Amino acid sequence: MVTEPSNEQPDVRGSGANDRAPIVAIEDLFVEYKVKNPAGRGKSIARAVDGVNLALYPGETLAIVGESGSGKTSIANAVMRLIDASSGRIIFDGVDLVPLRGKELRKVRPRLQMIFQDPFESLDPRMTVMDTVVEPLVINDIGDSDAHRRELGLAALQRAGLTPADRIARRFTHELSGGQRQRVAIAAAMILEPSVVVADEPVSMLDVSLRAGILRLMADMRDRLGVAYLFITHDLSLAWMFADRIAVVYLGRVVEEGSPVELINNPQHPYTKALVSVIPVPETSAVTNRTVLTGEIPNPTAIPGGCRFHPRCPLYRERGEPAGCRTDDPALVQISIESVHSAACHFVAKVP
Ligand code: SF4
Repeated sequence: MVTEPSNEQPDVRGSGANDRAPIVAIEDLFVEYKVKNPAGRGKSIARAVDGVNLALYPGETLAIVGESGSGKTSIANAVMRLIDASSGRIIFDGVDLVPLRGKELRKVRPRLQMIFQDPFESLDPRMTVMDTVVEPLVINDIGDSDAHRRELGLAALQRAGLTPADRIARRFTHELSGGQRQRVAIAAAMILEPSVVVADEPVSMLDVSLRAGILRLMADMRDRLGVAYLFITHDLSLAWMFADRIAVVYLGRVVEEGSPVELINNPQHPYTKALVSVIPVPETSAVTNRTVLTGEIPNPTAIPGGCRFHPRCPLYRERGEPAGCRTDDPALVQISIESVHSAACHFVAKVP
């Protein structure tokens, strides 16, 4: 049984209370785009997100986990309205974001912020730290004066652990380290006290030694401000450490969803089992039972028929390649009575 991804990683999960209405409800979301065919012959439709339903509750962290090409970043970008959904609804605090444009969209923006993967790209190197942090206040016309905004900016820097704040505020962002830049990005994202922050691989570009500090800061912000995170990551052990719930996505679909403890200790979908099996656990990693998936995730322009995972599925092969896996698309079904745990595989036992 896997109990801890690493001895040095802190548990920074939130309370995960979900007895309230979701702050974000993603309903039957599809994201498609056209891609040029090789050799320049016409275009194909890539389905990056293929009928996703997810709920994020106030103050909770929901991790969306998957390999590169799984569609996790497309879900995040659709929620942020950086890309258009092809169909479906994204209900944020009771309002469907999908049809919103211009002014209506700008009205919800302050409560819905994003932290990007690369702090070297997401911050303008020609801006000072103070200008970067107070920019959301300026854009949204918040604060009585420049002096007031500066005061709020200094408080945000302090909260983000950037001290002495007045000295750091005068520096340009290109003068800072990667960890400091990500703290500036977090300070800017939090200055408006949003309800939801979409964090797209927020520590993957940072040195391993800095990651725990950034996650602790994000956890501290969640506890202080009650912010909910949609936490996008390829790293299941990070999701285990940080999230209240995890949704595993494969080729645009959620294939398993549950609490971190259930997903890590009792994974049901063969894809989740493979991801769990390669989590480095000091006391067990040298032992057995690693499932290394063969092949690459298929192209979203050519999603395999039946169960989309069947070309790579170890269980499909173990079971003698049953025809149902090639012909029938398994639905995500609830597999636990006591908790929210669901999986999409013909061989999981659905609760009656
Ligand atoms: S339905 Fe078949 S191919 Fe799909 S995950 Fe289950 S065993 Fe594997």
